[in-house]
Amino acid sequence: MRIGLIDLDSKLPNLALMKLSTYHKQQGYEVALNDFTADKLYCSVVFTRSREKVEALKRQYPHMEIGGTGWDLSTKLPLEIHNCKPDYDLYTREFIYTRIKGGIGKKENKLKKAEVIANAGIGFTSRGCIRSCGFCVVPKAEGKFQQENEIRDIINPRSDALILLDNNLTADPHCLDKLREIKERGLVVDITQGIDVRLLTLEIAKALAEVKHLRSIHYAWDLMSFERPVLEGIKILSQHVKTWKHMCFMLVGFNTSFEEDMYRFRRIRELNVDPYVMIYNQKPDTKLRHFARWVNGRIYKVCRWEEYSPWAKEREQGQLFGV
Ligand code: SF4
Repeated sequence: MRIGLIDLDSKLPNLALMKLSTYHKQQGYEVALNDFTADKLYCSVVFTRSREKVEALKRQYPHMEIGGTGWDLSTKLPLEIHNCKPDYDLYTREFIYTRIKGGIGKKENKLKKAEVIANAGIGFTSRGCIRSCGFCVVPKAEGKFQQENEIRDIINPRSDALILLDNNLTADPHCLDKLREIKERGLVVDITQGIDVRLLTLEIAKALAEVKHLRSIHYAWDLMSFERPVLEGIKILSQHVKTWKHMCFMLVGFNTSFEEDMYRFRRIRELNVDPYVMIYNQKPDTKLRHFARWVNGRIYKVCRWEEYSPWAKEREQGQLFGV
C-alpha cells in the first residue's frame, strides 16, 4: 500500500507528517509526499487561510484524513505515531525551496537555505503556553505548558541546525539549561515561535546571545496593553544582542486601531528594531494590507506612509467613488 502525505502550506518540514511517515514505513508501506495517487491520504494544514483549498480537496478525496492547526485544533496524532521520530528523508531541498522561493533574494541563496531547513533537526522540547492570548491558537491546540523532549532527542545527526518549535521557550523553567545545551553542542538554532520578550531577564538575554541563530531573534508586541513589558524586554535583550538581529512582530486587525498600529511601528523603529506586521486572520482590510506591505517590504525606509503611492492612489479612488 502507498501512503500519500499531503503538505498543503508548511514553510518548514511538517513534524506531524514526518512522524506519520516513520510510522507507516515501519509498517512496511511506501510513503510519498504530496502524491494524490496514493491508496491512503493524510493532509496537514497549518494556516486557516488554506481552508477553502482543503474543502475543495476533501470533496475530491473524501477519504483523506485531515489535521493541523489550520483545520481542527482537536485532532491529535495517536500516541504510537506521536512517539515516533520524524522521518528526515521525507523532505527534500527542492520541496522546501518551492515553499520559500517567493520574495526577494537570489535563487542560490534560497536553495542553500532550503537545504539547511530540509536537514535540520526539528521538534518541541516543550509545548503549550503559560498565557492565553485571545488571538492565539496555542492555548486551544496545545493546552497548558508542559515539557516534551530533551534537546538531544530532536537533533538530526546529519545537521547542526535545529528548528525549535516550542511555543514559549522563555516561559520554560529550563530555558537557560536548554540554551546552554544548544551552545555546548554547537547547534545553530531557529526559535521559530519567537521568544516572549516580556519574560526576558539579563541572564536569558545573555544565554540567547551565546547561541548561534539561523535568523533573527523574534518576539511580538501584539496589544497596546503590552507596551511597557515589551519595551523593557527589548531593552534587556539589546544589552546582549544587537538590535539589527531582532525582529518584532506586530499583530494588526485584532483589537488595535490604525493609529495604535502606527504608534507601535514608530516605537519599535525608535529602538532600531525591524517590525513585521501580521494581519489577524488575513482580514481583507485594504489599508492594513498596504500597511503590511509598507512595513514588511521595508518601504518605510524610502517613503513616508502618507506618500506611499499604492495606498494614496487607492484612497484617492475610494474618495472619488465615495467608498
Ligand atoms: S504568549 Fe504567545 S504562544 Fe502564548 S498564548 Fe500568547 S501569543 Fe500564544
